[in-house]
Amino acid sequence: MPQFVFEPVKLPPEAVKLRTEVRAFLGEERAKGSFVPAVGSMVEADEAFSQKLGARGWLGMTWPKQYGGGERSTLERYVVVEELLAAGAPALCHWIAERQSGPQILRHGSERAKAMILPEIAAGRCYFAIGMSEPDTGSDLASVKSRAVKADGGWRITGRKVWTSFAHRAHYIIALVRTSGTPDQRHHGLTQFIVDMKSPGISVRPIYNLYGGHDFNEVTFDDVFVPEDMTVGGEGRGWEMVVSELAYERSGPDRFMSSYPLLVEAIDELGRDPQPMQAAEVGRLVAHLATLRRMSTSIAGMLNDGKSPVTEAALVKDLGTTLEQEIPESVRKILPIEARGLPENSAYSELQQLSQMQCVSYSIRGGTREILRGMIARGLGMR
Ligand SMILES: Cc1cc2nc3c(=O)[nH]c(=O)nc-3n(C[C@H](O)[C@H](O)[C@H](O)COP(=O)(O)OP(=O)(O)OC[C@H]3O[C@@H](n4cnc5c(N)ncnc54)[C@H](O)[C@@H]3O)c2cc1C
Repeated sequence: MPQFVFEPVKLPPEAVKLRTEVRAFLGEERAKGSFVPAVGSMVEADEAFSQKLGARGWLGMTWPKQYGGGERSTLERYVVVEELLAAGAPALCHWIAERQSGPQILRHGSERAKAMILPEIAAGRCYFAIGMSEPDTGSDLASVKSRAVKADGGWRITGRKVWTSFAHRAHYIIALVRTSGTPDQRHHGLTQFIVDMKSPGISVRPIYNLYGGHDFNEVTFDDVFVPEDMTVGGEGRGWEMVVSELAYERSGPDRFMSSYPLLVEAIDELGRDPQPMQAAEVGRLVAHLATLRRMSTSIAGMLNDGKSPVTEAALVKDLGTTLEQEIPESVRKILPIEARGLPENSAYSELQQLSQMQCVSYSIRGGTREILRGMIARGLGMR
């Protein structure tokens, strides 16, 4: 039976040094009041903050210098991402662009797209949205119904996307649409387009979440023109592009650290003398975190070596989101706000309440639990 191998990865000295620099920067920013820690893996957006990271060379770190990158290792980037998440920093603006859209454009975009877009992402000035899901198409992306037809010098897209995170502030959306065939032809005839959000014919409508926040949207394309050289990977390779992109979307620490700032606040609140039951529960959660971190850095090492660990990424996301959802529930039991008489507006209370409402979505976004488990079973040769 095939097995998963998660080789241990030792962070190189330059990554260890970088961690100290990033931590110091985040400590200063927090002390200045430029942010308060948030839970949810990048839910707060601050353009100035993203631009500060860009100015320090902490965005697009692995990309060629020619495109605004730093030619640094995946493991150094990993450390920056990990520190931003641990601090609950407001890095949402550039998050999708830097994590997955930029790397896709670097590998599969036209020269014009690379030169025009990548330096802007690396500077923290250009933001992206992911246009995969549609009203009747989420898990089963091969059934997308949005279509593009050939036009003079490019394509014209018509269709509708939903759950499109950050589309209301993004400069571009990468949209998965059908360019030939019919939905029943499944994986053939799909293409990904890089669409300028200012294009005539695009409209964005907010969809409010459980706690009234505006994170995602419905995006409608009404005969929207896209130039020929703004595909990702060329015509008909949309499915292949989506699959490789999801390895980036699923493997990072943002898939197990969403509740980390809450755990830290809970540990602070418990103080140096917790009850044995409280200490045991914190120990259990921290042990799970340490294991997931070890698996996730192993995936970063594989990406660094040019591999595409799609199934391993699915495994880490499934286990990671389980933990992210368990932390709010566990700390609520060992440290209940009302029973302890904690003020409603303390950092712990606020993170606790927000986590309870946010964490439902963790096992849906980026691929549901059932879909991931199907992939893992396939990776193990069980289906
Ligand atoms: C916070 C958040 C942010 C999101 N951001 C984006 C975004 O930016 N861009 C974007 O394109 N999408 C985004 N999504 C959409 C997300 O990717 C989809 O919700 C997800 O893929 C599930 O699709 P669906 O909602 O259509 O559910 P469905 O596919 O209808 O699934 C419903 C249920 O059936 C189960 N199911 C479906 N098929 C199978 C199967 N074959 N076997 C077993 N069980 C199955 C699912 O696991 C799920 O429990 C976001 C979602 C959330 C919650």
